Amino acid sequence: MAQIINGRELADKIQAELAMEVAEMKEKNIVPGLVVIIVGEDSASQIYVRNKEKSAEKVGIFSKIDRLPAETTEQELLAKIATYNQDEHFHGILVQLPLPAHINEEEVIQAIDPQKDVDGFHPINMGHLLIGKPIKIPCTPYGIMKMFEAYDIELEGKNAVIIGRSNIVGKPMAQLLLMENATVTMTHSRTKNLKEIAKAADILVVAIGKGHFVTKEFVKEGAVVIDVGMNRDANGKLIGDVKFDEVAPLASYITPVPKGVGPMTITMLLEQTVANARKLK
Ligand code: NAP
Repeated sequence: MAQIINGRELADKIQAELAMEVAEMKEKNIVPGLVVIIVGEDSASQIYVRNKEKSAEKVGIFSKIDRLPAETTEQELLAKIATYNQDEHFHGILVQLPLPAHINEEEVIQAIDPQKDVDGFHPINMGHLLIGKPIKIPCTPYGIMKMFEAYDIELEGKNAVIIGRSNIVGKPMAQLLLMENATVTMTHSRTKNLKEIAKAADILVVAIGKGHFVTKEFVKEGAVVIDVGMNRDANGKLIGDVKFDEVAPLASYITPVPKGVGPMTITMLLEQTVANARKLK
């Protein structure tokens, strides 16, 4: 039976350390600030944003949620971002995705000052990551790397297979694993023989957004399985991309959903905000 990688517990530990760091910074009159901009009423996004605000406040970060109506134009949103780029109270700016269809996500991401891009999605930050010299790292794969570290999971020379090639998870995950000398295979919806490829993995990271897609047929005995997926089943329950009950007996380590990758994502956002406040002070 796999050891469960407890993302909630690790996140709480890191957040407690961040809270101490923030308290020390405040003694020197440095108050880390994070602004989260949300456009429209997407209910999942509203929950994510509230969770980010709660966690930010818990560690002592000055946080603001800027809620904009769904009909906000791209120009209006870009103007807002330009204001926050100049505002010294905020060391981190995050625009909650997805945005309404009439707004071009790429334009918006590129409008954020790369120095304040605590999500790590700006092409400049992506570029630094690609050349192996990251400055800001997308929070989900960053959180997963912290999990490997905390659980002493060896990556060097290991076969790592990633299912999903999004810019926010799969691609940066591949680069981070490569930097730790894993042998990385990227797979996606057009991959042939996905089960066979996945079954060769020592480290399997799944980020596709399809509930319980990965069954025991995808997993080698002793593999480390990281489940990024957040999906709702027919009863509205939060489930991962991995069929946990079936895969856990086979794996050596596994992340649950909830209390796995999710809390670590938020924690890395806070960490990058605090680090930035120190740097930009
Ligand atoms: P995304 O942008 O929708 O990308 C999904 C990826 O999965 C694509 O590359 C797609 O392939 C691939 N894919 C879809 N169906 C597949 C299949 N049947 N076989 C193989 N590959 C398949 O998703 P995302 O933003 O990376 O998110 C993925 C999941 O992670 C979602 O459930 C999301 O909610 C969750 N998530 C969780 C966190 C967290 O903090 N826990 C953070 C971010 C995302 P193509 O490129 O070929 O279309």
